[in-house]
Amino acid sequence: MIPLADRTKRLGTETAFEVLVKARALEAEGRDIIHLEIGEPDFDTPSNIKQAAKKALDDGYTHYGPAAGLPQLRSAIAQEVSTSRGISVSPDQVVVTPGAKPIMFFAILACVDEGDEVIYPNPGFPIYESLIEFVNARAVPLVLREEKEFRFDIEDLKGAITRKTRMLIINSPQNPTGGVLAQEDLRQIAELAVRHDLVVLSDEIYGRTVYDGFKHFSIAALPGMQERTIILDGFSKTFAMTGWRLGFGVMPRHVADMVAKLQVNSTSCTASFSQIAGVEALTGPQDEVHKIVEEFRRRRDAIVEGLNCIRGFRCHKPLGAFYVFPNIQGTGKDSRTLADYLLNEVGVACLSGTAFGKYGEGYLRFSYANSLENIRGALRRIDRAVNML
Ligand code: PLP
Repeated sequence: MIPLADRTKRLGTETAFEVLVKARALEAEGRDIIHLEIGEPDFDTPSNIKQAAKKALDDGYTHYGPAAGLPQLRSAIAQEVSTSRGISVSPDQVVVTPGAKPIMFFAILACVDEGDEVIYPNPGFPIYESLIEFVNARAVPLVLREEKEFRFDIEDLKGAITRKTRMLIINSPQNPTGGVLAQEDLRQIAELAVRHDLVVLSDEIYGRTVYDGFKHFSIAALPGMQERTIILDGFSKTFAMTGWRLGFGVMPRHVADMVAKLQVNSTSCTASFSQIAGVEALTGPQDEVHKIVEEFRRRRDAIVEGLNCIRGFRCHKPLGAFYVFPNIQGTGKDSRTLADYLLNEVGVACLSGTAFGKYGEGYLRFSYANSLENIRGALRRIDRAVNML
């Protein structure tokens, strides 16, 4: 047997994909499953974007491109991010990657040494903790609190910073809670980041999926922050393009050069025709994006209202992303047991809060990237299942 390297013992994973496999296996046995586990829009990619990709294939965008991305896409991203974040970004501060996830990996590889400490949200996207540990740094959880609408307490952050802290990861709007950071939170975080000379990895992939008039604001726009912030963003969520593998990071030029070098050492570059489609996504009509967000809002309202009517559930109404994170302590079950029970008993696939770190105990995550009809069906099933407990 080929022995695996020691570092692989420290690598985590994303449970959503495992639950999806389990749910699909049950479907293969003939079970009817409602999928509320996976974090991807159920909408089709807007047709103007697909057309641009088809044309790109015919135009010969079928070869390698520059490691940091095609110049026309880097320019379009620089322009879009400058406008949406109110900062000045030049194309050489942009690196395009296959999906946004590699930005996490590359940013951590480029900026974090063994033994450094990285503060990250918990519950939070599980890949942060996995990658921090993979590079042999120390993962320091920053607890998100339901009573603060899933923001964190600034005193907790102050207490978590030591001389070894190198990086702080923030994610707003957030996966798994749908919570958002207020401008005042960002101001306080920025002050601490400047005072303690921290790098901030700001995961803004859900920045355009916001509701009720909330306006996404980037920490990079605050004084002294652009030079210490790596913005992670991409096309997967906003434009329903998860399968195209198209994301990007915006960062100081010397970091961008290193991230591009890491790309040379791993994926070489991002698919060229996907990048041309990305130019169309950013510069073409945006009405599909608005329609998608409006539809998500309707579903959010339905799922929050429905969950709050289920015995033992309490669900905060989030302002962003397409997830809800109800407190299920009132059911008397732990998160994992309840998630398994809902899948096996009534065919509703969701994730245990603990799939997002230990502070996710007591919660479940539902993705409402599914039709209103299916969401209503799932709510009826959950209600029935909980009443049988
Ligand atoms: N960041 C967060 C918070 C996410 O939830 C996800 C995907 O689920 C990503 C990044 C990765 O996005 P991509 O599919 O573009 O790699």
